[in-house]
Amino acid sequence: MIFNIIFNFILGTIVGSFLNVLIYRLPRKIEVVYSRSFCPECGHKLGFFDLIPLLSYILLKGKCRYCGAKISFIYPLIEFLTGIIFVISFIYYGFSIFYLKFVIFSSILIVISIIDLKTMEIVDGPLYFGLFMGVIFLLIEKNYINTLYGVIIAPLIFFLIIVLSKGGMGGGDFKLSFLFGLYLSFPKIIPWFFLSFLIGFIPAIYLLITKKATRKTPLPFGPFMAISGIIVFLFGNQIIRFYNNLML
Ligand SMILES: [Zn+2]
Repeated sequence: MIFNIIFNFILGTIVGSFLNVLIYRLPRKIEVVYSRSFCPECGHKLGFFDLIPLLSYILLKGKCRYCGAKISFIYPLIEFLTGIIFVISFIYYGFSIFYLKFVIFSSILIVISIIDLKTMEIVDGPLYFGLFMGVIFLLIEKNYINTLYGVIIAPLIFFLIIVLSKGGMGGGDFKLSFLFGLYLSFPKIIPWFFLSFLIGFIPAIYLLITKKATRKTPLPFGPFMAISGIIVFLFGNQIIRFYNNLML
């Protein structure tokens, strides 16, 4: 067990460092697979010892070995977070199809939300990859009817919000909602929807009241959809059961 936990954590940090590459390169349209990593400040090519997940950051004290520029704390944080996600997935699902589904779903959401926070854009590449993988999981699970409900309900609600809010929410969020419909399916899509709004709207209303944002400020909603999606993927059934018990 402890070996598996350590193994999954290390595997997760390695995947996390690849997610960092995507987060840095996709918005800048830099080739992802073949080009070597470099320091964004001095352009020096990075070697093996500069690229060990978490460890390099700690050993180099968060600075570039060649020019001393500070490396953003977000990169080791994402490696750590991805490590934790792999560990949780293993503890929850063992090495099963759900393990794979959860780590792919979470990894895609990490890339999409961090890029959304930085650029206010939902990037297409990871989203389409996620939808493609989601269809493969669907073919394995054969949960067709409930998934169909999921991919209809989620975008439909977002379409209504876009119309009602007169553009207060972007088309990117609408596209992203298909991913949640596909991975969470019905009935988990319902608590996902409420939780996204609860955690997304409270900060938004706070920003509006404190005048840190105006109605015109684009607020990135992707990260809240992502956090809610990860929570509901894991605990959706418990949330639904809890709600049903309250109602009875
Ligand atoms: Zn440098």
